[in-house]
Amino acid sequence: MSNESHNSNPLPAAPLHDRGVISRFRKYLPITDATPVISLNEGSTPLIHSPRLSEKSGAEVFIKYEGLNPTCSFKDRGMTVAISKAVEAGAHTVICASTGNTSAAAAAYAARAGIKCAVILPAGKIASGKLVQAYLYGAKVIAIDGNFDTALKLVRELGGIPGIEIVNSINPHRIEGQKTAAFEIVEELGDAPDIHILPVGNAGNITAYWQGYREFHTAGHAKILPRMIGFQAAGSAPIFHQKVIDDPHTIATAIRIGNPASWKGASEAVSASAGQINIVTDDEILSAQSWLALNEGIFVEPASAASVAGLFKLGRPEAKRIVLTVTGHGLKDPDTALTTGSYRPLNVDANLAAIRLVLDS
Ligand SMILES: *Cc1c(COP(=O)(O)O)cnc(C)c1O
Repeated sequence: MSNESHNSNPLPAAPLHDRGVISRFRKYLPITDATPVISLNEGSTPLIHSPRLSEKSGAEVFIKYEGLNPTCSFKDRGMTVAISKAVEAGAHTVICASTGNTSAAAAAYAARAGIKCAVILPAGKIASGKLVQAYLYGAKVIAIDGNFDTALKLVRELGGIPGIEIVNSINPHRIEGQKTAAFEIVEELGDAPDIHILPVGNAGNITAYWQGYREFHTAGHAKILPRMIGFQAAGSAPIFHQKVIDDPHTIATAIRIGNPASWKGASEAVSASAGQINIVTDDEILSAQSWLALNEGIFVEPASAASVAGLFKLGRPEAKRIVLTVTGHGLKDPDTALTTGSYRPLNVDANLAAIRLVLDS
């Protein structure tokens, strides 16, 4: 493009492509000149100061709002790297097991790359927003009569076929991409927080954040390392209970996992950082979800609200700064909010007097 001589725009030309996590953090990622970069400008999500959570907890609290990624969850950070590496390796198809958000991200990035995507899901357990994404991005959606753990077992077996790449978080490129969220937090705060809280399902994300914080610490960008505190749903808490859960249950479908793939990574993050894995109940998750929408104007899906419920459970922990990751957008799962809350419109006559009556009440 030769817009140098004919440019009537007084502003300097902005780079109009490649603003995703690979171009921003390339030297920390397994990317070479041979890697085609498949990106939707993921990352650079807002770190939002939360005055009411700060007041309640006695620390400065910031919310990393990962629902503002291109497919509305943090899964995009790992998927840009996983799909780019899959295309580099010559894959014609990517496949994943998913509770919903991985399939949405895999389908979008596969569409972008022009390759096929198949997703294996537990039938009837996927939030509607996530399912509609997988359909529209053109994935082959395969529903099985089994839970996520069974789906992942099947996917592991399919991954041996040439040309087919698994893009679950057992793919190490996913973890690499996801660690960039920790980089962004350190860039914005000028250091790591004292505590980092996030929901835990397959435990890839807690593993990735810890890796990111450590790398920026080693590189001299962060002086401290945070305590990593992960929250599982009480009915799906294998790491907390130190045993596989055969029939995990929770309203927070994104963390409905009984045998986490990155169990070991999570345990290491927690022990090396003097952190913990803890639990919150579905009731605590749902009330934290509506509390956050009502008090801070941030609408997240139920799994994401486990971070907020977790902070409430910790009370006033010893810390100056706390970061909570909220992992996915609230519009991913409107049905849970609509069916568990008692929301309905106020039906009134179509005249000013009737409306004013409602406004004044
Ligand atoms: C995937 C996901 C999680 C769990 O992340 P893990 O890396 O599996 O621990 C939590 N919340 C949302 C919204 C997710 O999509």
